[in-house]
Amino acid sequence: MAANGERKAVAPDQRCAIGLTFGNSYSSIACTIDDSAVVIANEDGDRQIPSILSYVDGEEYTGTQAKAFLVRNANNTLVSFRDFLGQDFKSIDPTHCHAAAHPQDANGSVAFSVQDKAEGDASTLSVSEVATRYIRRLVQSASDYLGKKVTSAVLTIPTNFTDKQCEALIQAANNADLEVLQLIKEPVADVLAYDARPEAILEDKNIVVADLGGTRSDVAVIASRGGMYTILATAHDYEFAGVHLDKVLMDHFAKEFMKKNKDVDPRENARSLAKLKAESESAKKALSIGTNASFSVESLAEGIDFQSTINRLRYETVARNVLGGINRLVEGVVKSAGLDVLDIDEVILSGGTSHTPRIAANMRNIFPESTQIQAPSTNPSAINPSELQARGAALQASLIQEYETEDVDQSTHPAVTTVAHITNAIGVVSTAVPARRTIHINGPKEGGDVLIKVIEGNTHIKVTKPEPKPEKKDEEKDEDDSDFSDDEEEEEDKREKVWKSGETLAEAAIRGLKKGSKVEVTVNVAADLGVTIAAREVGGKGGVRGNIAA
Ligand code: ATP
Ligand code: MG
Repeated sequence: MAANGERKAVAPDQRCAIGLTFGNSYSSIACTIDDSAVVIANEDGDRQIPSILSYVDGEEYTGTQAKAFLVRNANNTLVSFRDFLGQDFKSIDPTHCHAAAHPQDANGSVAFSVQDKAEGDASTLSVSEVATRYIRRLVQSASDYLGKKVTSAVLTIPTNFTDKQCEALIQAANNADLEVLQLIKEPVADVLAYDARPEAILEDKNIVVADLGGTRSDVAVIASRGGMYTILATAHDYEFAGVHLDKVLMDHFAKEFMKKNKDVDPRENARSLAKLKAESESAKKALSIGTNASFSVESLAEGIDFQSTINRLRYETVARNVLGGINRLVEGVVKSAGLDVLDIDEVILSGGTSHTPRIAANMRNIFPESTQIQAPSTNPSAINPSELQARGAALQASLIQEYETEDVDQSTHPAVTTVAHITNAIGVVSTAVPARRTIHINGPKEGGDVLIKVIEGNTHIKVTKPEPKPEKKDEEKDEDDSDFSDDEEEEEDKREKVWKSGETLAEAAIRGLKKGSKVEVTVNVAADLGVTIAAREVGGKGGVRGNIAA
């Protein structure tokens, strides 16, 4: 066990490293095989492992097995504890633990009281101890799968984790005998997973990563410039996430049940509520794949069995508040990054809730057609949103596991990420410099002289109002009695991004170009923001070069 403050370190040649995503709701483990990331199934065959521990007669259960105990062993079942790490009791939100073991105030920090032994009194477990026990189980599953002891991991963290939370997570992992190679930010892990694909084109782009989980939705706007990732803005929300979609279905089915069984509300009894919740989550997941889901619980309340069905349209109607909240969250963070939806090249949907087809469809509507929406229902080649972060973490682990701990520490601050396509560690910094761009321009067909002008580009959003429609005649109006007819819908303004030429930065004349030759223009932005511009004939000698001071 590592003493407080001391970090567990393993020699590079002794390491066996994995990527680990430890969420409040689910966790995933990934490794790399031949440089590609693979998410590992645990002994229950799960790749999304519920972040839950349950104690029954002194036995410890985890994952799906532990989740099942929420019905009849709720008090000894620990859920939704990841975010409590490194937090004071007074600043946590215990909402998601109300139907499980309750967090308690232990001298200002968070603890749980559970009967974890077959006999004797209940134990008081600090949240750090709970996390350690849970991580130990994940590491065990990974070791069993790989057939060798896993020693090290790259873990993912939300962008708003404090230093104290990071430290507590590292300590909890170390106590589970796991070396933490690096903590990387969840949205960066998502982007890494996409950028590591062999077919990925690494061009400069603005990306929105919407990580929609169980208890929280985190959205980030990331600029990718020359292989460097810059987080431009983030937003965090705890009201519009997976559990809120479960709740919508719980209320829906509870009301259905009450139509048939007057005065019996399954939400008023703890066990009934737990059954209602588990089946609602299953129905919700089924609605991501099919357009209909069945709902069936034996002895839901007062010994009465209940069966029902729901279709996707009905679900989307009852869930519209939550779905609308997610839309606003995404739109808001694009604004706070100082960007317009037209500036976004790609939207990566990550986290379990991102399987929801309506959410991907809403993103499709919010963003222009040129924006790629990376979600299973809008792009068949999208990566499973539940696996993205673990994959990104595993890729990162495989890159840095060969380095000595000190070297890793120095070059991989939580805000720094190494990516496969460049050899040096790169920074997630607020300005993506130094940067270098090279472009090739066709010279005049017959050869001759050219003048190259390098100008500043400015964009603005051009709004075109739709053509006003001719007023309808009275008799037409009478016939048209549908409220939802397409004609009645107001046409939206047409918005497009247009480039304006700004100030001229440099001019260069190249004389005597050969027939059919090209001109290469290189723009170098140094760390001090000084700009060097060079222009030359491709394959030719000499060229023109000039500096613009920062
Ligand atoms: P958090 O930390 O926010 O609690 P997490 O990061 O631990 O969440 P994720 O696996 O990203 O967890 O998301 C879990 C949520 O995704 C749960 O609410 C789960 O019901 C939901 N979910 C998983 N699969 C699907 C699916 N196929 N369709 C819809 N929702 C799904
Ligand atoms: Mg998550």
